[in-house]
Amino acid sequence: MKKGLLIILSGPSGVGKGTVRRLVMNDTSLNLVYSVSLTTRPKRENEVDGKDYYFVSEEEFEENIKNGNLLEWAEFVGNKYGTPKNKIEELRNQGKNVFLEIEVNGAKQVLEQYKGDKRVISLYLVPPTFEALESRIRHRSTEPEEVIKKRLEKARYEMSHKEMYDYEVLNDVREKAAKKIIDIIKSKID
Ligand code: 5GP
Repeated sequence: MKKGLLIILSGPSGVGKGTVRRLVMNDTSLNLVYSVSLTTRPKRENEVDGKDYYFVSEEEFEENIKNGNLLEWAEFVGNKYGTPKNKIEELRNQGKNVFLEIEVNGAKQVLEQYKGDKRVISLYLVPPTFEALESRIRHRSTEPEEVIKKRLEKARYEMSHKEMYDYEVLNDVREKAAKKIIDIIKSKID
């Protein structure tokens, strides 16, 4: 049995990562397991604890860092986000493909730790234009203007790191972007 893949998906805030990720995860032939992150960010109304994120306090997060439980972690617009380490290798050894959706600083840490692992795929989702991204961030957000501004600043920073990834995937039509990612994963599974 081949070892499972470790798939990293990044992209600026507002590019539609969540939607594309869900479309990819719906393809059961890919044998994917989504890695649920820890975050100190408050839960949004439509989110489920333990499914979208593990919502934890600042203290719990710090405790997890101290105990070496996180593969990587990063701060994003005032909140902390991190990937639990415990199950990733166990799942990959069972042949499951582990899917991470994380921002660039975290991706950098993972790529560093997994250097030389040919079964790691990194993907960067790009918007058609920065204006399209700005409009999405503004329209979907219930957050105050200063948070929106910070997300936009961060989006610019994130976009300047896309060369670090193996693949750049354009998200003009979400089904098309998901299909492209599915095809990339399939090409590595077979
Ligand atoms: P949001 O608050 O919009 O859910 O997420 C903000 C950013 O944090 C997104 O770019 C998302 O991909 C990223 N993120 C989510 N989980 C993790 C994680 O475990 N580690 C890192 N480094 N980033 C994460």
